[in-house]
Amino acid sequence: MQSRPPSGVMSDYSKLRERMVKRQIAGRGVRSKPVLDAMRKVPRERFLPRGHGVFAYDDSPLPIGEGQTISQPYVVAFMAEGLGLEGGEKVLEIGTGSGYAAAVLAEIAAEVYTIERIEGLASMAKSNLEALGYDNVHVRCGDGTLGWPEEAPFDGIVVAAGGPDVPDALKHQLKTGGRLVIPVGRSKAYQELVRVTRVADDEYQTENLLPVRFVPLVGEEGWSSEY
Ligand code: SAM
Repeated sequence: MQSRPPSGVMSDYSKLRERMVKRQIAGRGVRSKPVLDAMRKVPRERFLPRGHGVFAYDDSPLPIGEGQTISQPYVVAFMAEGLGLEGGEKVLEIGTGSGYAAAVLAEIAAEVYTIERIEGLASMAKSNLEALGYDNVHVRCGDGTLGWPEEAPFDGIVVAAGGPDVPDALKHQLKTGGRLVIPVGRSKAYQELVRVTRVADDEYQTENLLPVRFVPLVGEEGWSSEY
């Protein structure tokens, strides 16, 4: 039986996407209906470099150029669930990469603001998202560790790269009750995914969610270089 379609065979991609949600996402305990619905809708194959679409529903991160990756589908779903989104929120993502996770968030939230530090990836993500009609996603090239102060506060912030600490700028851009999901670790090789909830104006609660491996968060409130 052929498990991977030649690129462009939409119905086969839909079947692979459905199977991915069942086995990799719901099968590992993600229960949020908005997240499962979003994962069923967004065509991951459209966020991969040309010719790589056949790998779109593999259970792994994949290279997208510039030494960066599109995250594993399960991790995208787990992080989105960690934000506790129900619909209608204003969300900030740091680390746009291909734009895939931004599209997943945009299926649930009202507006998604996303920042990528590498210009080539920011413009690729922009065209991927425009081609699919995601007009509620706003892409900016810059240092996401400083957040997007002009658009703050946010109901949720998700960071798709691992930093040494939780950036203060991001904590301060949460609404009260808002959640920040970020990989944090003193080593660049692995991190712990943590959730920070702003429970009052000057009070935050932190929970450890999952051990993870992300590319480094490089910036003023992150690592000073990728290596
Ligand atoms: N969310 C992406 C997707 O769906 O394809 C995957 C993101 S990839 C794992 C992490 C991204 O974070 C990389 O593209 C990297 O360039 C970016 N990045 C690292 N540090 C950053 C920073 N300070 N600000 C913005 N983006 C950053």
